[in-house]
Amino acid sequence: MVRVEPAWIDTHVHLDRYQGAERDAMVALAKVAGVAIVAVAVDLASSRVVAGLEGVAGCAVGVHPLRATGWAGEALRDLARMPGVVAIGECGFDGAGPDGAVQASAFRGQCELAREAGLPVILHIHGAGAWERLVEDADALSGLTVVRHYFTGDARQAEWHAERGHFVSFGRPLLREPGLQAVCRGYPAGLILVETDSYPLAGRTTEPRDVVEVGEATGGLRGWTPEEARERLYRNSLAAFPGLRFG
Ligand SMILES: [Zn+2]
Repeated sequence: MVRVEPAWIDTHVHLDRYQGAERDAMVALAKVAGVAIVAVAVDLASSRVVAGLEGVAGCAVGVHPLRATGWAGEALRDLARMPGVVAIGECGFDGAGPDGAVQASAFRGQCELAREAGLPVILHIHGAGAWERLVEDADALSGLTVVRHYFTGDARQAEWHAERGHFVSFGRPLLREPGLQAVCRGYPAGLILVETDSYPLAGRTTEPRDVVEVGEATGGLRGWTPEEARERLYRNSLAAFPGLRFG
C-alpha cells in the first residue's frame, strides 16, 4: 500500500474530549479532507489518554495553567517518553488560573521536562496578566522549540516571539480579525502553523477538517497558492514537531 502524507496538519486538537462515535467520525472526516491531527492534553488524565490515541500524527502531554494546582512532574516525565509524544503542553499562563507562583512552577517544570526530553513546548497564554507572566519567566524557554498556540496577541507580542524564533499557530480568528491578519502577513514564513483548537463547546462546531480553511486563508494573506500554503505549513509543522508520524 502506498503511504500518502497528509497535506494539512491541525497542530492543536483536544481529541480526548470527544468520545466513541463522535471522535471516530471527526478523525474520519479529517482524513478525507487530508488533515492530520496533533492531539493535545490539558492535565495528567488527558495526557494518559492522548498518549494512547490511535489515528493521530502525534500528541502533546502536559498540564494547562488552569489545571496547574498540584501538577505532577514525575508522572508527566514517564508519559513524555512514550512513543507518539511529540511535544510538552499545553502549558503557560492564564488570567483565570490559580495564583502566579503555582502557574509559574508548573510552567517552569514543564519547560525543564521539554528540555530533558528534547521536545518542543506548546504555550497557552490567555487572559489578564498572562503575557506579563510569560515575559517574566521567559528564561525558562531558552534553547527550546516553542509554539505559541491559538495566537490572538498583538503585533508587539508577535515581534517578541519572532525575535526568539518561536512558532505561532493561528486558528479561525485569523479569518475575521484584521490585527491577526496583519501579524500573519508579516511573521517569518517558516514559523507559521495552523490549528483549530477543537474541543466540545456548546454552539461551536469547529473540528479538525476546518484547518484547511485557516491554512488557505494564511496562503491568501501571504500571497501563496493553496498548494504552496499546504506545502509550507506542512514543512513548518514538521520543523516544529519533528516527531510527527503519518501512516
Ligand atoms: Zn488547547
